[in-house]
Amino acid sequence: MTAQLIDGNALSQQLRTEVAARAAALKAQGTTAGLAVILVGDNPASQVYVRNKVKACNDAGLHSVLEKYDASLTEAELLARVEALNNDPSIHGILVQLPLPKHIDDHKVIEAISPLKDVDGFHVASAGALMVGEVGFKACTPYGCMKMLESIGMKDLRGKHAVVIGRSNIVGKPMAMMLLAANATVTVTHSGTADLAHHTRQADIVVAAVGKRNVLTADMLKPGAVVIDVGMNRNDEGKLCGDVDFDGCKEVAGYITPVPGGVGPMTITMLLVNTMEAAERAAGV
Ligand code: NAP
Repeated sequence: MTAQLIDGNALSQQLRTEVAARAAALKAQGTTAGLAVILVGDNPASQVYVRNKVKACNDAGLHSVLEKYDASLTEAELLARVEALNNDPSIHGILVQLPLPKHIDDHKVIEAISPLKDVDGFHVASAGALMVGEVGFKACTPYGCMKMLESIGMKDLRGKHAVVIGRSNIVGKPMAMMLLAANATVTVTHSGTADLAHHTRQADIVVAAVGKRNVLTADMLKPGAVVIDVGMNRNDEGKLCGDVDFDGCKEVAGYITPVPGGVGPMTITMLLVNTMEAAERAAGV
């Protein structure tokens, strides 16, 4: 069996076109959707991420502001910037790029963002809203994974068994909640799980979000399973790769996401979707 690819670039393009249309419609009513991105320090990977996020915003017709600060910025100064953006009516979404320098408490900063502008979906209020099924913002990476499932006709997952590998607050846990909300039967696995393959072999859907190469290999899959690879790692040649042994798994899976070109572009796309949603809510649309 050779799996069909779920192309994150193509799906992103389609969704970004929809965001651009919504942005234009809102602009016509007098509101330009705006995202503020804060970067503290000079982490090279973070610099690339924020550049890509700002560019994606501009390409879709959203207003974006990039605030860059030296690593010496104090926690109090950062909290004051977040508060100012909370009160800025031209900004509908606030993203503080993580990781922050060690002297700043990530959690304190994320909790300072207004839940109405928490377009990364990391605030406790957003996590809680997802848990109880209320309106909030969904964490972008798992939200993108759900859109990928929808794109292959898997919106209602009734009768499906999904296995999530990883339980982080930004990927694994919200992923599990979104799958549950879509009616899947969900198993969450992690570093304390005995016999991971025992679980994955029963799965109709496997989402790997670990950060280690070859966590999922072909012998761990049920034939025809859908494989979503969130991982971002480097192989021995320094090239970007996921958590999944792609070459092996594509011979057994029904669908599979590539790395690069899979979940990565979807994460940025869902940030635009969330920012658009925040702007529409603020405008009462
Ligand atoms: P994280 O916070 O380090 O969490 C990793 C999870 O994997 C933990 O829950 C850990 O278990 C679990 N784990 C570790 N070894 C395992 C094993 N052998 N078997 C099963 N579970 C194991 O990482 P994260 O932030 O969720 O990110 C995961 C990966 O996704 C990383 O490669 C990251 O770069 C990538 N990522 C990609 C995107 C994107 O846009 N494509 C976005 C976010 C993250 P414990 O909880 O027991 O420690």
